[in-house]
Amino acid sequence: MKPMTVPFVDLQSQYLALREDILARADSVFRRGAFILGDEVAEFEKAFAGFCGAKHCVGVATGCDALFLALRARGIGPGHEVIAPANTFIATVLAITAAGATPVLVDCLEEDFTMDPAAVARAVTGKTRALMPVHLYGQAARMDELSAIARAHGLVIIEDAAQAHGGTYRGRPCGTLGDASGFSFYPAKNLGCYGDGGAVVTDSAEIAEFARNYRNYGQSRKYHHDVAGWNSRLDTVQAAILLAKLPRLAAWNEARRRCALHYEAGLAGLPLLLPRVRPECVPVWHLYVVRSTRRDELLAHLGRRGISCGIHYPVPVHLQKAYAGLGLARGGFPVAEKVAGEILSLPMYPELAAGQIDHVCAAVAEFFR
Ligand SMILES: *Cc1c(COP(=O)(O)O)cnc(C)c1O
Repeated sequence: MKPMTVPFVDLQSQYLALREDILARADSVFRRGAFILGDEVAEFEKAFAGFCGAKHCVGVATGCDALFLALRARGIGPGHEVIAPANTFIATVLAITAAGATPVLVDCLEEDFTMDPAAVARAVTGKTRALMPVHLYGQAARMDELSAIARAHGLVIIEDAAQAHGGTYRGRPCGTLGDASGFSFYPAKNLGCYGDGGAVVTDSAEIAEFARNYRNYGQSRKYHHDVAGWNSRLDTVQAAILLAKLPRLAAWNEARRRCALHYEAGLAGLPLLLPRVRPECVPVWHLYVVRSTRRDELLAHLGRRGISCGIHYPVPVHLQKAYAGLGLARGGFPVAEKVAGEILSLPMYPELAAGQIDHVCAAVAEFFR
């Protein structure tokens, strides 16, 4: 018998389950030939806004672009500072620098890796225009505290919701907790297409209109360009695929929750730190991240047992070569730096079977024996 293997994600089995629906929808796009801003884009925008309980959704080319557009829609650019966590995927910060603004990084909380509100309060200056909390791994950032800071200083909140489709905070959906949010539909996200895709979600008609024009060369009518925009449209074929997948998202998130509970039971009592769920949050488990001071050995051990894991993310933003220019030395964000050496993302996807989770837990237990 072949030994069991557990991939980190498994996009194939989801495709096989949806294949007929996806092929029919893609075929319909191909037959009609409306490839750019075809009907499916508007249909998906409406459906995803509905899913989030937001007034507007504007489909764009990537999650990175969605964050950039949300910042630009609020006039954020050169001379402005935007506060973001040091422990995020680089795209959060790339959006800030692409807009011409200056990223001001802050440390995270050890408990759940979200942006530390006390650090945010200390980082506010006269140039600060926006906060960019990240709902990291699918659990909401501390929005009450961050909103209070934003209110006190007249700041905009742009949520990075790229890992949090369907997550909630005090019963309200991630992506509707600030002025606007950016979602990503990168294939491995909780809602992923078969290429790149993203969306700006907002209740503001003004932000939505800006994003809608900007993504399409800044035009309000064909060949009438109000702003020097860009080409960042959500592809129609990708929108068609997202329409096939969206009705299943809630059930997939539920399946991820069951996997998280299974891990929690299976790993209980072992000498590693398990993810902490705050009572005001319903996370959607984009990633299941544990912590161990023997992370690299554990990662290698699991690899030998056929289990693929990840590290999200091994190098905090301030230690990336790309941001050496910010002049932030090692030691500046001690929590982010410490956890970067200890975090380990175990396999997590809706189709992950109970037997596979048992196999992972047994291998982890074996490592610590
Ligand atoms: C995936 C991701 C992004 C970027 O999304 P893309 O669609 O890949 O551009 C931004 N922020 C976070 C936290 C992400 O996980």
